[in-house]
Amino acid sequence: LVASLEDVEETYIMVKPDGVQRGVVGEIISRFEKKGFKLTGLKLFQCPKELAEEHYKELKEKPFFPKLTEYITSGPVVCMAWEGVGVVASARKLIGVTNPLQAEPGTIRGDLAVQTGRNVIHGSDSPENGKREIALWFKEGEVCQWTPAQAPWLR
Ligand code: ADP
Ligand code: MG
Repeated sequence: LVASLEDVEETYIMVKPDGVQRGVVGEIISRFEKKGFKLTGLKLFQCPKELAEEHYKELKEKPFFPKLTEYITSGPVVCMAWEGVGVVASARKLIGVTNPLQAEPGTIRGDLAVQTGRNVIHGSDSPENGKREIALWFKEGEVCQWTPAQAPWLR
């Protein structure tokens, strides 16, 4: 069955500074590639404080907010846009729950992290936030719309 265009979503995935520093960028990208989603944006980026605050604005009142923005700006991150049917919820499953100690083995956080404050990866929590976050982290022209020549399972 061919998925209709309306089912195709975009999500913003980001390897946080600890993931970059620990050398698990390739492993993380690999998991999304193998799952079969389509990579449409990718860059290494040093995030300014204002952007970290805007990205996490819904958490502004949380006690950990200052530590969170300090963490996200502590070194370069890898910004990614991924596209596919059901990609938002599926990416959250691949990532695992926020606290890595509660994340199932087999998930990225379950396999690669211990602390909530160093949980290696971000993934958008809704299609709306996927669009919002991709627009926030990527400039126009940095996201590529492309069609694989022969790989219908990527669509
Ligand atoms: P998720 O990243 O799973 O969507 P949230 O949106 O709730 O989780 O929180 C955003 C990020 O803030 C988390 O990934 C984590 O890095 C950090 N965070 C969340 N809760 C805490 C906490 N209690 N202490 C420290 N950092 C936290
Ligand atoms: Mg979140």
